[in-house]
Amino acid sequence: MDNCIFCKIIEGIIPSTKVYEDEYCVAFRDINPQMPVHIVVTSKKHVPSVLGFTEDEKDILGGIQLAIAKIARQEGLVENGFRVVNNCGRDACQSVPHIHYHILAGGNMGERIV
Ligand code: AMP
Ligand code: ZN
Repeated sequence: MDNCIFCKIIEGIIPSTKVYEDEYCVAFRDINPQMPVHIVVTSKKHVPSVLGFTEDEKDILGGIQLAIAKIARQEGLVENGFRVVNNCGRDACQSVPHIHYHILAGGNMGERIV
């Protein structure tokens, strides 16, 4: 989609530090990390948020979940654990309207949020 920063990253028009790619998603290091490990996992298909998927796109959603587990193993996050965050809409401060999940790790995050 034109003017979508994550579509441009997926297409290679904007550079990123890619850590994983498969038929459903691309994962890259967040440009403004909020934890020592901060990876963005985003759908190759432009969908604005989790609200935008249809019943026949369950394979994409399942593919992303499996990719998150693969990335966690690949990046050595299994032993100490990690957090997965999806921001959706205004109150969650979603800033890029292309579905993505944050993988956060590398230190204790406390019990809030969440
Ligand atoms: P959100 O606020 O949940 O929409 O998350 C968007 C995330 O994308 C933020 O954590 C940004 O730091 C990150 N981000 C924005 N532009 C880039 C970029 N060019 N490369 C990597 N991460 C980015
Ligand atoms: Zn997009």
